Order: sequence, then structure tokens, then C-alpha cells
Amino acid sequence: MSSNKNKNNLMDKIVSLCKRRGFIFPSSEIYGGLTSCWDYGPLGAELKRNLKDFWWKAMTRSRNDIEGLDAAILMHPQVWHTSGHVAEFNDPMIDCKTCKARFREDKLEESQCGRKPSKKPTECGGELTEARQFNLMFKTFMGPVEDSSSVIYMRPETAQGIYVNFLNVKNSSRQKIPFGIAQIGKAFRNEITPGNFTFRTREFEQMEMQFFVHPSEDEKWFEYWREERWKWYEELGINMAKLRWHEHGPDELAHYAKSAYDVEYEYPFGWQELEGVHNRTDFDLGRHMKATKKDLRYQDDRYKEKFIPYIIETSAGCDRTLLTLLVDGYDEVEIKGEIRVFMRLSAKVAPIKAAVLPLVKKEGMPEYAIKVHEELKKKFKLFYDESGAIGRRYARMDEAGCPFCITIDGDTLIDNTMTVRDRDSMEQTRMTVEEIEDFLDKKIND
Ligand code: ATP
Repeated sequence: MSSNKNKNNLMDKIVSLCKRRGFIFPSSEIYGGLTSCWDYGPLGAELKRNLKDFWWKAMTRSRNDIEGLDAAILMHPQVWHTSGHVAEFNDPMIDCKTCKARFREDKLEESQCGRKPSKKPTECGGELTEARQFNLMFKTFMGPVEDSSSVIYMRPETAQGIYVNFLNVKNSSRQKIPFGIAQIGKAFRNEITPGNFTFRTREFEQMEMQFFVHPSEDEKWFEYWREERWKWYEELGINMAKLRWHEHGPDELAHYAKSAYDVEYEYPFGWQELEGVHNRTDFDLGRHMKATKKDLRYQDDRYKEKFIPYIIETSAGCDRTLLTLLVDGYDEVEIKGEIRVFMRLSAKVAPIKAAVLPLVKKEGMPEYAIKVHEELKKKFKLFYDESGAIGRRYARMDEAGCPFCITIDGDTLIDNTMTVRDRDSMEQTRMTVEEIEDFLDKKIND
């Protein structure tokens, strides 16, 4: 066996596997697709759901100090004036006068010419404009009249929904500082240069948590959250050698941040941001308090004075993390002269936890296997497959990211044990159905 991961066309192979196996499809494909928009297929939808659950469990259910929220995408337009997004959520962009393509100034080196995709914008001979500001928020109109008074924005981040609900959550949950509010939801940005499959899209999901602390404790909690988030990726099963921290220098810091670190992953197209951990100070609550005249300050018996809490934010991209899992899990192995593809997803998030396979389609094996499937599917997402040679069936499951295959053979009918094949070690262990239930439970939930 030899590993054969070719960096150059790895993304093409992943895109093609995603289509073939039903992880991700181009959006509106029968109409020719829509740039940078993607649909999650049967395996992708399960994977995404599992990933969100994994985050939600770590960030809310397993803790006493974080509450969940699910705020509306459409918010009062004034929110985006107050937050600074209307004035400052801009990317400097450059147009090509020849092919009319538009590029982000800071991503010019990674962009492709509109006419000659093999060339960079600077190499194709086209004349470029000076950089200009371009607001990334999508606008639409609320109600039947389309005029300036009915302009409304599609939220470009989920965080603002949390800030405007700070009082509601604090009062209804009776949480005391330090505490956090977490939410998962869609965000929209009219990105100038979307691309690299689902890495940068115009519609995406974020998994954000805002942690409210006393101003004197901001640095302590900032460090705490950096450590927690690092551990989360470890638990998710990401290859940690491909992760690193990137500290924002003074020229990179967002207008609201005192300090910021990105978790970066080494994608086939280079090191790129996966998540941001930011110290947003009292900027957000301070601005909303000023704009609304609502008192967003905090006080309890431990503090003599009222204060505006500082916020430590952890902001991860759901689609980007999912892409990271696919890139990280993709593997090719040569077995007896044949290249076999493995999607090495952790059992914690894998879309299908186990396949149930009768060795042959006779001698009572399918009937027994169907019973095993019926029993275990009460707890786990499984897949039953009786068609084709067992080797082919294993190979299909390996590509689909399924960590275990349960095979019912002749001995099963005698002693009620079946083999459980581990996708990564390829080891096979005999277990009863009760043992398999415990085994899967541990692999998924521990
Ligand atoms: P970038 O520099 O890549 O544009 P950003 O610094 O603007 O990202 P944040 O505003 O910090 O990103 O958003 C937090 C997270 O949301 C990012 O780390 C990323 O995982 C995700 N995210 C942001 N923009 C996109 C996008 N266009 N497509 C997919 N995910 C995104």
C-alpha cells in the first residue's frame, strides 16, 4: 500500500468525488449552475448536520455558561449602520478594463484573468483600474415598495443578531457574566472573488459564539477561547500538523478588534483562514447602546459599577470547516495495482456511521442483515447494501466516508457474531449486535 496524494489536482478530485457520491452538487446545475453557489446532497446534508451538532454540543449543551440563539437573517437596517458594516464592510477592488472582471486587491495574486483563466490578472496584458471600495452586503427591499426607505440587508455575519439580543438572553436565562451566546446560521456576502469550491461563497453558514466578560478579564478569556477552539479541531479529527495560528498585524485588524487570531488550515491552494477568534472589546454593545439609547451595561452583586461587557468572539465557517474535513480526509491508496479512494472522515461527523452488508445474497444472510439494520438504525444512520461483490461494496463505503462495515456471513447464522471492518486500519473484529451498538456509540460520542 502506498499513499498517493497529488496536491495539484486534489481539488478537482474532491469536487468530482463530491458530485459522484452526493456530498455537494453545483447549484441549479440543470440551468448551467450559478457561480459560487453549491447544494449539499444526501451525504453532504448529513455531514453538515453532524458538524453543526458537534459544534453546538461543544459550545452550548456541554457547558453551563453558553446559551443558544437563532436570530432572523433580516434585521433592522439601522443595525448595519450602527455596526459599521454600511460604512466599512468593504473590500478594495480592482477592475480589468479589458475583460471587465473584478478582483479583490488583496487577492490579486491568487485571482484568474476573466478571459484567460490560466493567467493572473497582471499577466494577461489587460489594463487594471485603481482600487475602489465595494460594499459586500446584499441589499433587497422589504414590503411592496422598492424605494430607499424599504432597503434591507441580508446579514453578512450572524454576530449582530447576538448583540441585539444580549439583554433578552441575559434576562431570560439569568446568566451572569462571564457567559456566552452561540448561534449557527446563514450569512451573505457579495464576495468579489468567490472560489476554491465552497471555500469562499456568497451564501454560507457561520457558527459563531460571543462571550461577554468583564473588561479587566478580556485577555484571560481570549487565551481561554483560543485554547478551546484549538482542542475542538483536534477532537474533530483534523490533522493538526495542517493547522496553525495567524495573528492579525495592526494593518489587518478589523475596525472593531483589539486583537485577533485566525485558525488557518493548509489547503491545496495554500494556508487560509478557517476561523477567527477576536477580542471585539465593548465596541459592539457600546455602539448599539448609543444608537438605541437602551442601557446595555451590566451589573451584579460582584461589581460595584455598571460596565459595558467586552466580547470575545469565536467565528467559524460551517461550509469552510466541512470543506476542510473533505480535503483533510481525502486519501488515495494503491492496493494490488489499483488506486483506491478513501474519505477518512471521523465517526463523529461521518454521514453514514456503518454499512450493513450480507456477504452473499443467499443462505439467509440478507434476512439476518435486514434485521440487524432495522435494529441499529434506531440509533445510527446506516446504509444497507447487498448488491455486488463485497470488495466493491467496501470500496463504495470507503469513498463515502463510512468508517465501519458490518458483514453478515455464514458464521453469523451459527454464533450471532458479525465482522466489523474498520475503514482506516482495515482490521475486522467479530461482535454481536449488542456489542456493535456499544462500539458505535463510543466511536461517535466519546
Ligand atoms: P476572509 O478573509 O476569508 O474573507 P473574513 O476574515 O472576512 O474571511 P470573518 O468575517 O472573520 O471572515 O468570518 C468568520 C468565518 O466565516 C471565516 O473564518 C470563514 O470560516 C467564514 N467565512 C467568511 N466569509 C466566507 C465566505 N465568503 N464563504 C465561506 N465562508 C466564509
